[in-house]
Amino acid sequence: MIKKFIRSILGKNKKDASSTEPTILSQKQHGIDLQLVSPNAIRVTQTLQDAGFKAFIVGGAVRDLLLSVKPKDFDVATNATPEQVKQLFRRAFIIGRRFQIVHVMFGQELIEVTTFRGASADMAPKDEHGRVLRDNTFGEQHEDAVRRDFTINAMYYDPASQSVLDYHGGIADIRAKTLRIIGEPEARYREDPVRMLRVVRFAAKLNFNIDPASSAPIAVMAPLIDNVPAARVFDEMLKLLMSGHALACLQQLRKQGLHHGLLPLLDVVLEQPLGEKFVTLALANTDARIKQGKPVSPGFLFASLLWHQVLEKWRAYQAAGEYPIPALHLAADDVLNAQTEKLALQRKIASDMRDIWAMQPRFERRTGKAPYKLLEHLRLRAGYDFLLLRCASGEIDAELGDWWTAFMEGDGPEREVLLSRKPTNSSSGGGNAGAGPAAGASANTGPAKKRKRRGGRNRSKTGGGADKPSNDGEA
Ligand code: ATP
Ligand code: MG
Repeated sequence: MIKKFIRSILGKNKKDASSTEPTILSQKQHGIDLQLVSPNAIRVTQTLQDAGFKAFIVGGAVRDLLLSVKPKDFDVATNATPEQVKQLFRRAFIIGRRFQIVHVMFGQELIEVTTFRGASADMAPKDEHGRVLRDNTFGEQHEDAVRRDFTINAMYYDPASQSVLDYHGGIADIRAKTLRIIGEPEARYREDPVRMLRVVRFAAKLNFNIDPASSAPIAVMAPLIDNVPAARVFDEMLKLLMSGHALACLQQLRKQGLHHGLLPLLDVVLEQPLGEKFVTLALANTDARIKQGKPVSPGFLFASLLWHQVLEKWRAYQAAGEYPIPALHLAADDVLNAQTEKLALQRKIASDMRDIWAMQPRFERRTGKAPYKLLEHLRLRAGYDFLLLRCASGEIDAELGDWWTAFMEGDGPEREVLLSRKPTNSSSGGGNAGAGPAAGASANTGPAKKRKRRGGRNRSKTGGGADKPSNDGEA
């Protein structure tokens, strides 16, 4: 009774998690511009409705539309079963085993159609930490709404009537720029710890504040992320890093105490001034590329995030007597192995990272045919961009980056002049790339100064061949 009374004073937007009746907003009230809606998404809702089903655009697309942002993709929720959905469209595919969804294709565009989920998570099977393992029952629309993560992600838009159905006060939260988890935050994070990463991503991406009750449990509950399957954490990390707001996301991760253990040792890296500068520059660079609509490679991103760990180990192996090139491969192995457990780095991404790292000492060789050979490397551009980041962060002398810029842009005679020019940086040449001016003494003091390549490379644990490093061993 008292609860109900308090709620009535606070207004109808402060609904609790059991709301079954939505607030319905007209076009005038919500102001969504129909022009921003994908015609294919409209086609899907229309077709389903014509067949007698309920169908709405849902989730992130509605949130973005309310913020006057063109959504990057559209999800549809319906009370039709996956089989019923499939029958209505020519190119429709049922995906997933446990909870089936339907992918409806229109050329390149994919509309994801999901049947309303039902039943409370209380009944679902869980692991020993309370994480929901399966939640695959169909249900009513209001049940579907309550299982979504944030109030702003739990609204339904019907393009036909242009009305928005708001079950949990999402509109008010959009207006107040507040990210609020639906229901009891601790319980929701326990059910699915990935929601903690999603809070961070949306807060950074939308520039919203996190409701204090939604943010308070995160610091304590962060370790629960360790129990989430690595592939899922990886997907979410990738979304975070490719959101165009990676830098802001990382700052939020740190603020919320979530970076510990997510990328093992990333916290250590961020606490070293050079490491932090490198990561900051790399992410700012990525964000700028995404905002300009340019492609970003996950390999480059993760290679950047983990570079200072590689660097540290590279120096340690050299200090212990290993030669530079095999030392670099050993370092890469160590870092990749540690990350694979946590992040399930896909093979392709891991091999891209290795290529980018392995290319770095090759930039140090600025005589003879070596630079020409490097020009032919498939990932030259990524390796070169990476080199520039190392220069910009102060890890190595900017002169090396300038030299390569000139070499890549130069014509034949200009290149010959560059090749005959004596490098001004004493660290250059000889593949001892760990020994830049800021590289610390260890790299220079190790016994591994003599040039010895063949065979040395094969001393790395995987023989340097597990993920096929670039052919950097050739002299
Ligand atoms: P984006 O713009 O990044 O795609 P989104 O909100 O659409 O944002 P998706 O991951 O595409 O995010 O998820 C679609 C919708 O599914 C969300 O808006 C939310 O309603 C629901 N959802 C996704 N992940 C979860 C989760 N872990 N727990 C509860 N609901 C979720
Ligand atoms: Mg989405």
